[in-house]
Amino acid sequence: MTAIYPGSFDPMTCGHLDIIKRAAKFSDRLIVAVLNNAAKTPLFTVEERMGMLREAMEAEGLKNAEVDSFSGLLVDYARSRDVYLLIRGLRAVTDFEYEFQLALTNRMLDPGLETLFISTSTEYLFIASSVVREIAQAGGDISKMAPDYVCERLRRKFNEHI
Ligand code: ADP
Repeated sequence: MTAIYPGSFDPMTCGHLDIIKRAAKFSDRLIVAVLNNAAKTPLFTVEERMGMLREAMEAEGLKNAEVDSFSGLLVDYARSRDVYLLIRGLRAVTDFEYEFQLALTNRMLDPGLETLFISTSTEYLFIASSVVREIAQAGGDISKMAPDYVCERLRRKFNEHI
């Protein structure tokens, strides 16, 4: 079965990569879909976020995973790709309420769509893109939180503003 793992990935972290690797094991094809949200001002452009994901997935040798982007409703995107399985990652209980609401809303919009939750690995429990961005901006060590090339892109991004 083909699955979609949607998210902002601004930027991707080791937590995201862990979910991608695990989801790619049981799905025939995994589409990692970067949300192009006009209402938010992301740190990285959609193209930059897709590039980092591609690099990470290539380095892991994931042959059945690909990167795409979408804007608008996830249900419309899923339908356009003919996919009926969504993957989301769950960290602490704090993720649950938001993720549960999202899953139920998506199923209300399209009853054929199922959301499958993968629980985080304990070492990534507290890793979030926002935290990685903040630590990088303050010049802290993020080497255990994001793949090397993502750390490098973050360093470059923040140096641009100095
Ligand atoms: P969104 O803005 O859609 O929440 P994110 O890029 O923040 O997008 O996250 C995409 C998905 O990955 C979400 O389901 C989120 O809960 C999950 N996720 C993020 N970080 C981790 C992590 N460290 N471990 C497991 N899942 C994670």
